[in-house]
Amino acid sequence: MTATPHAADRAPASVRTEALEALLTEKGLVNAGGLDGLINRFVNDVGPMNGATVVARAWTDPEYRERLLADGTAAVGEFGFSGPQGEHIVVVPNDAEHHNVVVCTLCSCYPWPLLGLPPDWYKDPAYRSRIVREPRTVLGEMGLELGDDVKITVWDSSAENRYFILPARPSGTEDMSETELAAIVTREAMVGVAVVGSPS
Ligand code: FE
Repeated sequence: MTATPHAADRAPASVRTEALEALLTEKGLVNAGGLDGLINRFVNDVGPMNGATVVARAWTDPEYRERLLADGTAAVGEFGFSGPQGEHIVVVPNDAEHHNVVVCTLCSCYPWPLLGLPPDWYKDPAYRSRIVREPRTVLGEMGLELGDDVKITVWDSSAENRYFILPARPSGTEDMSETELAAIVTREAMVGVAVVGSPS
């Protein structure tokens, strides 16, 4: 039997999302207020600042860095960062020789408790397919030019493992406090499409 595409398949994501939410609410599977609360929390309260806090601690406390790389979920839990999409956090360190970048090729798996909700480019089908095939080119287009001697690894996030990048600490930051360090860490660096630059 040939499947006929439903009109909903061609509707914009926002319309499909609303239809899905209405259906789930009607069936009593979710409550609309709860969903709005959840989205508000991850947009307004969480955001990438949590991830930046973790990175700054790892830059200043070698024992914490070790715990973070050994068991990401437990180490970020020390800050109370947990919850939906915060299970199975795997932390991968970047350095000058080896650059790591994260994608979810299937959908948009992302460490919500550390970074908030994913940005649009992360959910874009072009990013999700191309970063795997031609990471150096895509990173270059996003403003990160890596030398040919830098090895690149692409990590595919899923429900089993949600990857989080520990960026390299830039030079010129030796005298900065943990709070000052957290302020220079960007969301893009924690996904691996950027590096943290030296403060000028
Ligand atoms: Fe996903």
